[in-house]
Amino acid sequence: MYLLFDIGGTNMRIGISSNGNTLKETKIVPTPENFEQGIQTLKQISDELSNKEKITGVAGGIAGVLDQDKTMLISSTHINRWVKKPFKQELKKIFGCRVFLENDAALGGLGEAVKGAGAGKNIVAYLGIGTGIGGVRIVEGKIDKNSLGFEPGHQIVVIDGNQCHCGNKGHLEAYVGGLYIEKIYQQRAENIKDAVIWNQIAKYLAVGLNNVIVHWSPDVVVLGGSVMKSLPLDMTANHLKSILTLFPQPPQLVLATLGHDAGLYGALALIAEH
Ligand SMILES: [Zn+2]
Repeated sequence: MYLLFDIGGTNMRIGISSNGNTLKETKIVPTPENFEQGIQTLKQISDELSNKEKITGVAGGIAGVLDQDKTMLISSTHINRWVKKPFKQELKKIFGCRVFLENDAALGGLGEAVKGAGAGKNIVAYLGIGTGIGGVRIVEGKIDKNSLGFEPGHQIVVIDGNQCHCGNKGHLEAYVGGLYIEKIYQQRAENIKDAVIWNQIAKYLAVGLNNVIVHWSPDVVVLGGSVMKSLPLDMTANHLKSILTLFPQPPQLVLATLGHDAGLYGALALIAEH
């Protein structure tokens, strides 16, 4: 039995799998602010979903930057009281089995690359556009080797542009992230019906995607996250076509297909990889 989780700033999604391939049951609960409480909640829901059957592998994503050995968060804007707490060590102690941790967006991207919209493609670029923007480069079903993780949401698209919560200016997230859309246009992304506004947002996203494609050279670009439910993909593709003329056939943009479970599928892929 495997325990899988996806810990975001607001909610955590927890699932179990008995065959290592499909999800058996999942549950969503609010993310505890406090780390110790978070560990307790994970244990409690694990017992509940697994009927106290032995857990033989644990994997999950968490919202923030992890240390190089993937044992704990070293920074997080959403769950700062989990930062520098021995997350992997605690999970190992409780479950007595292998534990694998990753950044939440990276794990969502891995799920999409292996089981979702990027399945069958060699090199997948994934961008998750929700409240903020995360992303990852996947090569042959694995998160590409990296030194500091991937942060495509914090690429600069406008010099001296909008203030980003990370402390710097002009980042893609500060134009296309859900939180910033709400700030700039005074309404939530899902309520915006004005095509002129979406056209403007799509243009910024296309600039970000241009940069992702020229650096990461993907076979396909998968776009997930809540904002993509409203942001017209064809508008983005049209802007991209007009700015990325270097490649006769730029990679296709596709929408993610796994929804909120992408991170849990990514966690399964992470266990399978090891
Ligand atoms: Zn930023």
